[in-house]
This record gives sequence, C-alpha cells and structure tokens, in this order.
Amino acid sequence: MFKASIFGQNQEPKILCLGAHPDDIEIGCGGTVLRIIEEMPCSHFYWIVFSGNEKRIKEAREAARVFLKHAKSRKIIIHQFKESYFPFVASSIKDCFEKLKQEFHPDVVFTHYKGDAHQDHCLISSLTWNTFRDHLIMEYEIPKYDGDLVTPNLYVHLNESHVRKKIDFILESFATQKEKQWFTEETFRSILRIRGIESNSPGNYSEAFHCRKLVL
Ligand SMILES: [Zn+2]
Repeated sequence: MFKASIFGQNQEPKILCLGAHPDDIEIGCGGTVLRIIEEMPCSHFYWIVFSGNEKRIKEAREAARVFLKHAKSRKIIIHQFKESYFPFVASSIKDCFEKLKQEFHPDVVFTHYKGDAHQDHCLISSLTWNTFRDHLIMEYEIPKYDGDLVTPNLYVHLNESHVRKKIDFILESFATQKEKQWFTEETFRSILRIRGIESNSPGNYSEAFHCRKLVL
C-alpha cells in the first residue's frame, strides 16, 4: 500500500531528507525512512543537515549512517551554518539548494513544516518549496517548547519494530542532547502513538506530515 500510494512502480525511489539541525530528520521522519528502506531496499538517499558544531556533526553523520545502513545508496552532507541565524545567511543557504537541484532529482522530499515556529526550520521549508517546485514534498513535525504542533494531513503507519529502532537510534546517536528535558523515549513514542490513533494505524504508531500539494 505504501509503495503504491507514494512511489507507484518505481522500485528505486530517490529520496531527499533535509534538516536544519542534527537530529531533526531522525525525529521528524526517521520511522518513515526505516519503513521505506524495509519495503524498498533499492532506495537512494540524499541526507542533508545544515548546521552543527564539531561534536554534533559527528553525531549527525553517525546517525544518518545507522538510519540509512540498508539503503542502496546514500549521500550524507553536513553544512555548518550557525544555528538560530539561518534567516541572516539565507542567500548562502539558498546557494546550497541551487547546487542540490542540479545534483539530485528526488521522487519525494522530506523537510520541515512551513508553519514551524523555529526560524531555521521555517527557512529550510521555504527554500525547499522554492527549489523543488514539481515534487512531492512531505513536511515533518518536531515537538518542541514552542508548542507549534497542528493537525497534520498525511500519515505513515509504523509498527513497534520501526518505533523501537527509531527511538534507539536517536537516543544512542545524539549523546550531546541527553541533558535536555525533552530528549526522552517518552517524548518520541508519545507523538507517534497519538498520530497512530489519529490514523487508525494497525501497528499502533504513525509519523505524520503536512502535504500542501499532491498530484496523482
Ligand atoms: Zn531543529
């Protein structure tokens, strides 16, 4: 069902994952990535993170390798734009998108939600839409202090195995985040369970997205 609804007969889908900070992609769509690779191991991934200091870049690279271990191919790029300053260096970030557009032609793009309250997240979402104008874009959600979650309109069902792996990979990969009060198994599991209820997931869990335009 997942294959038919998203990728049709394309057995080697090209998937682009974009995240402003290390751990955004994993939190927002890590379970969906694991499910895609499980169902379509011939998937090709571009995985791009736009910021990080030395420690966090190392963590981001390791986490991407773990999540994408069984994909057919993977390219992991970590930029070093200063966290929280993205709107002030937008033209340099835009240049990265222009380069990316020449290099990779994705079937689906995972990016931040346009209404996300974090300025870095919001800018990455806007540039995604500026750059990939004729593509399927799925905007993921990030629970956070700002309280900016709203009702999504696209769900990907997950089961306990996807959820277990997603949470373990995140908790094991991002040691620098362990002191943050929200960085817990409970946070990650609870949002997946709520989205699972909303989408009547047979496996109890779902990741949820905002899809502004869908062409069939
Ligand atoms: Zn972030």
